[in-house]
Amino acid sequence: MKVPSYCVSLLLGLMTTGRLLAVEVEKVEHLTPPLITTATIDQKIACTRPMREGKFNISAEEKEGKLLVHCYGHGGSGCTTSWGSVLQAIEKFEELQAQKPNKTAGPLRVLGVGIIGLTAAIELTRKGYQVAGITASELYEIPSWKNAGYFALVSVKTDPVEQANLDNIGLCTFLEYKKISEGKHPYITAECARLLPVYCSEDTESGVEDLEKNGFIPQREYVTLDFGNGVTHPHFVKYITYFMDTTRIMLQLRAEVDRLKIPVEEKEITAFDQVSEEIVFNCTGLGAKDLNNDDQMIAVRGHLVNLNSESGIEHMNYMIYTKVKELDGSYATVYMFPKCLQVNEYDTHGRAIYGTLGGTFIPHTDSLTEGQLRKLDKVEYKKLLDRNCLFFWGKPYEPTKLNTITVQ
Ligand SMILES: Cc1cc2nc3c(=O)[nH]c(=O)nc-3n(C[C@H](O)[C@H](O)[C@H](O)COP(=O)(O)OP(=O)(O)OC[C@H]3O[C@@H](n4cnc5c(N)ncnc54)[C@H](O)[C@@H]3O)c2cc1C
Repeated sequence: MKVPSYCVSLLLGLMTTGRLLAVEVEKVEHLTPPLITTATIDQKIACTRPMREGKFNISAEEKEGKLLVHCYGHGGSGCTTSWGSVLQAIEKFEELQAQKPNKTAGPLRVLGVGIIGLTAAIELTRKGYQVAGITASELYEIPSWKNAGYFALVSVKTDPVEQANLDNIGLCTFLEYKKISEGKHPYITAECARLLPVYCSEDTESGVEDLEKNGFIPQREYVTLDFGNGVTHPHFVKYITYFMDTTRIMLQLRAEVDRLKIPVEEKEITAFDQVSEEIVFNCTGLGAKDLNNDDQMIAVRGHLVNLNSESGIEHMNYMIYTKVKELDGSYATVYMFPKCLQVNEYDTHGRAIYGTLGGTFIPHTDSLTEGQLRKLDKVEYKKLLDRNCLFFWGKPYEPTKLNTITVQ
């Protein structure tokens, strides 16, 4: 018997042996899965998360005659922590600057044009500092343009003593997304953030637990997912969090930087003394491993499969982030986010897409040769498509076959 979806929590009172026996029936969420075939795939993307072991480097120091402010190492959560991190980095900068009472800050330079560097350049300018420019080795082929857009603290490797600080950074950034979604943000429009359900298995660390604990999002619900094709997943947890339209956010950050007349130059910096300004905001992500000699930086490769309009539209109203069992019995992650725009180096205005599938988290890939990386990517795309198809359709990826709804 199918349980109607309006049965949020049906309590059946059964009078047996004088006791009331309560049976809770899970609400059923009827969801439309994306169609996943060769014809519905727009593009496969591999890129690397800049993860710092233990904690992000948000600090300020005087070194080699420069005032260096570091803000890097955000792993798989750089968009979830961008404003909180940048505001904390500016605080550290101001604390150090305050120790030089007779010196006002001169022009400063930002290194890196990802979400962290752009946000830093804008926030510094809004606080009255003169940002002479942004220098970056790469403008578009970076994770800030590629990521999935899930607001959650995932793929970060945080020391227990650092957890409270990370949670605060996340909460602070959440409030910025709230302003965005309410149309109250000074330079990002409301369409860039919307609250959506995300479904995770019970044993998945969703990355939004702290938001729930602090009452920023509603309490979790336990649900059964029904994809209407014979595939159901009982005992799933439903949370509500932001989907961040990070491609649009990046476009709007770039537009704001242009409006503020902050020049952006494409150039690699191999030592801080190559920068003529005395104050340098180092937002170089993975580049900080060499530039700042930071052995705690870990390259974590991720793979995404973007879908096109043939995949359907109804899956664009929910998100999946869940642990699953692979064909070989090992555990992996399946995720799907309603990303709707993709920018590439040769397509800088972006083109429409209809969701992105993931999730791989493969550490230390910077030690691989190009050939090894190519091989790894091929294997990972295949595994990723197999486990996504198993999750949504109950069978591995069959490139040429159309997914069909077999059971109602
Ligand atoms: C597959 C994938 C999915 C993701 N999904 C999510 C998600 O759902 N939610 C989320 O919050 N986050 C997600 N992330 C993580 C997020 O994308 C990153 O944490 C974030 O983009 C990091 O931003 P950044 O500005 O620090 O670094 P980057 O975007 O890497 O930018 C670094 C900049 O520094 C420049 N640079 C580096 N070295 C030098 C140098 N020596 N000289 C000059 N310039 C230099 C680079 O050219 C670049 O411009 C995902 C990442 C990946 C890979």
